[in-house]
Amino acid sequence: MIKFGPSGSCEEFHAQNFKKTADGVNWLKERGVDLYEYSFGRGVNISRESAQETGKAFASVGIEMSVHAPYFINLATVEDQKKENNVKYIMDSLEALKNFGGNRCVFHPGSPVKLERAEAMSILLNSFEKIVALKHEYGYDDLYLCPETMGKEAQLGTLDEIIEMVKLGDDTIIPCIDYGHLNARDQGIIKTKDDYKRIIDRLIDGIGFEKTAKQHVHFSKIMYSAKGEVKHLTFDDDQYGPEFEPLMEVFYEYKMNPFVVCESAGTQTRDSMMMKNYYNSLK
Ligand SMILES: [Zn+2]
Repeated sequence: MIKFGPSGSCEEFHAQNFKKTADGVNWLKERGVDLYEYSFGRGVNISRESAQETGKAFASVGIEMSVHAPYFINLATVEDQKKENNVKYIMDSLEALKNFGGNRCVFHPGSPVKLERAEAMSILLNSFEKIVALKHEYGYDDLYLCPETMGKEAQLGTLDEIIEMVKLGDDTIIPCIDYGHLNARDQGIIKTKDDYKRIIDRLIDGIGFEKTAKQHVHFSKIMYSAKGEVKHLTFDDDQYGPEFEPLMEVFYEYKMNPFVVCESAGTQTRDSMMMKNYYNSLK
């Protein structure tokens, strides 16, 4: 089933002054949230007890959890220490995810830095293959890893690069499609329902219907410049886009069941529910 929810806690949530995230699960449920993405962007810093307690609180109101792995991951690195760190960031994220009782972990693939893009990509695929094998060795066969499409030209993570990564793995490697990133990277290419269909049809061609149908989604409107993403906006923006309505129509028409996480700047709970309500109005 399609699910909607925010990435992290929005401004309204913070204004409630809950002592911890787990204390706010009823507040989220009352707003209609089905899904909550917990970000470890700055590092995996949660104890097992605290993760389990948080997971139980979310489960008690029927909200699914996902996690975002640290932003420092760069699978295209050539440095041994950094390669080791990548493995640790991902395995720690998966462990926390397991303790939360969730099953999807999103991560940013990395950037070429000084390498040629093709060379960086081959290093990245090689590192990723090892991580997929290790995930299996650790017994995380029930957890999905979701490499994300990125918003800046300088980052790896075009739609085609994500398709290559997903093809490399088993059934538990699925894409995280950040439509705001795709739009920002190419200066506003997503305008119409057909623009969304082109993206989704390319995914179906590359990785098959099933993985496309259960894709993880990041959605926000994003300001961009010639080099791509500048900053996340809210749904009040009417300049940069992209607009969510045509995407919801495509998901409905194609009978897809993605997990849709909203990353608006501060209004992510409200905006995720705008998407959910629009989607439900199509039924
Ligand atoms: Zn991300």
